[in-house]
Amino acid sequence: MVDAPSTPVPVTAFDAHHPPSNEIIDKCVHCGFCLPVCPTYVLWGQEMDSPRGRIYLMKLAAEGVATMTPQWVQHFDTCLGCMACMTACPSGVDYGKLIEATRSQIERNHPRSPFEKLYRRFLFAIFTRPDRLHLLRLPILAYQKSGLQSLVRSSGLLSLFPMQVQTMEALLPKLQASEHVPGLTAANGVKRRRVGLLLGCVQREFFPQINAATARVLAAEGCEVVAPQAQPCCGALMVHAGEEEGALALARKTIEAFERAAPRAQKFFPPNARTSPKFSPNSNRAPSGTRFACASHSRIPAIFSTLKASAPSLARCSQTFPAWNLPRSRKARSAAALPESTIWSNRMPLALWANAKLASSLL
Ligand code: SF4
Ligand code: SF4
Repeated sequence: MVDAPSTPVPVTAFDAHHPPSNEIIDKCVHCGFCLPVCPTYVLWGQEMDSPRGRIYLMKLAAEGVATMTPQWVQHFDTCLGCMACMTACPSGVDYGKLIEATRSQIERNHPRSPFEKLYRRFLFAIFTRPDRLHLLRLPILAYQKSGLQSLVRSSGLLSLFPMQVQTMEALLPKLQASEHVPGLTAANGVKRRRVGLLLGCVQREFFPQINAATARVLAAEGCEVVAPQAQPCCGALMVHAGEEEGALALARKTIEAFERAAPRAQKFFPPNARTSPKFSPNSNRAPSGTRFACASHSRIPAIFSTLKASAPSLARCSQTFPAWNLPRSRKARSAAALPESTIWSNRMPLALWANAKLASSLL
């Protein structure tokens, strides 16, 4: 008896759980427009540390030509996830979805060294916990205000520490006074919308003026702003680092916090949003109607094109807009000739650029 020929199983370096989409990979036409805007390519000049090169590496792994060697993984570890490449890409390659899927694959299928595991655990234990970040404010303020920071930097003492410590010290933001966003901010004048405000973790503690300015803009636009005080980390940090399970747990808790604070928020999250096995912070796989914060990547090009029209000089700064707090009074805003309904800031264009129309469509 002759066995029936079995269907050949495609050889690939990825497992079957949400591999990077071949459809998106194939949209890359290798034009290279993204290369000059990619910080890692500008820094090292290596094709494999560019968006185009990383997409090619994904393709090779998907086809089973490349495996997840430490060198292959390193090219994805070095990607900043800044998404500057997405706004430069004429083919509309959704690099955000590709890198998220690839990093999840790496975390499931590539063994990390004990040091890497420990370091990642430390980062997630601190940067996804606003309460712990809050405790860090006082020592950091003391370090900065006492002049110790200048002394440490000028003495070269930092060179004795591991590179990770040096990098964190270099990235330490200059802390400013705390600015609180209340759980409920009433709309100025007639209420037109009710919007939820994600406060972020690092942003809540280290850039509080941005959240406060966002709430003021929304209120000025006639939005009632709901900012649940108990909202945890939204999970973005973890999903961007490939920690899908942890990210999902945090995303579900965030949805619950918003539902508790504003029952009408259920309108934005379908009943199965938290329990569906398909629910993922990656908007590609979220059930239809689940908008949540996962609207981010697909919105960035639209946000930038609007910014280009309203503030070309700032839009040129890409991901590093100068921080700008909206003047509190309507009179001061018109005196400064600033668009009534626009705000831009220095970190996350999605969370920090808002007008009533955009906010209502996002949240
Ligand atoms: S700009 Fe877009 S299409 Fe061109 S190489 Fe980069 S990712 Fe590919
Ligand atoms: S996300 Fe940033 S660092 Fe990563 S490939 Fe794109 S431009 Fe380069």
